[in-house]
Amino acid sequence: MMTTCVLIKHSSPEQHDGLKTRSKTGNDARPARKHGCHLVAGRNCLRLIEPMNSPTLKSARGTCARQTEAQTDVETVPENYGRCMGVGGAIMMRIDNLQYANWSDKIFRQMREGDVDAAHVTIAYHETFRETVLNFEQWNRWFELYPDMIMKGQWASDVDVARKTGRTAIFFGFQNPSPMEDDIGLIEILHSLGARFMQLTYNNQSLLATGCYEAEDTGITRMGKQVIKEMNRVGLVIDMSHSADRSTIEAADSSERPIAITHANPYEWSPALRNKKDDVIRAVTENGGMLGFSVYPHHLKGKSDCTLASFCEMIARTAEKFGAQHLGIGTDLCQDQPDSVVEWMRVGRWSKDIDYGEGSASAAGFPRMPEWFKDNRDFGNVERGLRATGLSDADVAGIMGDNWHRFYAENFIPNAG
Ligand SMILES: [Zn+2]
Repeated sequence: MMTTCVLIKHSSPEQHDGLKTRSKTGNDARPARKHGCHLVAGRNCLRLIEPMNSPTLKSARGTCARQTEAQTDVETVPENYGRCMGVGGAIMMRIDNLQYANWSDKIFRQMREGDVDAAHVTIAYHETFRETVLNFEQWNRWFELYPDMIMKGQWASDVDVARKTGRTAIFFGFQNPSPMEDDIGLIEILHSLGARFMQLTYNNQSLLATGCYEAEDTGITRMGKQVIKEMNRVGLVIDMSHSADRSTIEAADSSERPIAITHANPYEWSPALRNKKDDVIRAVTENGGMLGFSVYPHHLKGKSDCTLASFCEMIARTAEKFGAQHLGIGTDLCQDQPDSVVEWMRVGRWSKDIDYGEGSASAAGFPRMPEWFKDNRDFGNVERGLRATGLSDADVAGIMGDNWHRFYAENFIPNAG
């Protein structure tokens, strides 16, 4: 049965801000989100969508029209329930599988403006278990403060809920195994709290595996093998973004469930220490795993001056080689972070000397982002760039979000038995 939905068009982000402000001040008791009224700035469209005859929608139409007065254009468009519409076509799902921003109201709003349905965010680099719990607490506070923009993500179905309600689902991950300390029992506890990705190493050797900055890669350790089994059991995804080659291949081969490289690019395109050689990408993808492409300038060909065309061509070539269904986006966006944070990311508490990581003494801070990707509002550039390479609509949709969504559905749920 065809379901008729409503597309409500707004003309500027200011109108959206106006909606929010009115809701917060209580002039209108119903926040816009509750009736699916959420502006996707820059697209002149509103995602909704409710069946035409639903009481919620009738309320939405009335309230939205009243709130934005003559500036809002309400029209009916045919579309399936739950789809997000753009003017003239369906909007693809967008999932960014790695960000570590200096979170704020501004960035959450930009996520909505960029139509980001879900993001996997790092909540631990060097934190202990207790320190990580404080970061979960901080996120709970943000979910409480900004319920119209973000929600906690635990399962793939939460991405669908976020899409239908005009929000971004936030999934949690660690770039280091430090939150589990040396206690394998904490893996299940951390998954219960909402962790969904954990790197086995962050550049250095860990109790579990070898990081990509070590001179010798001895592969997965004895404890690492036990931890992989436990992560498989509870549904915590193994992320090898900062790991060395042999360790990554061994993790991919020994894990019973697919693993991920959430944020890196092919070494062949840009030979950075953090980027991945073909045999590593092959081991991960052949076992059903995912590679998320990073726009962090140290991972890009030409760094900050990398062009969108070069980035998207690289993705298209990687799709030819390894299959588009194994590819997604993991921008590694570190928006608004001070340079002291990148120093802490590199040094933590393991060294008294400065380690410049991918930077250098003369360029120690965060690098300048490429012109075509400065923040969450720029995902449209990537989508357009991918289309321009000649990739099929299905492949572009997969890379922009559908593949991560499928991966979430298959890998976050605990193994039966
Ligand atoms: Zn990283």
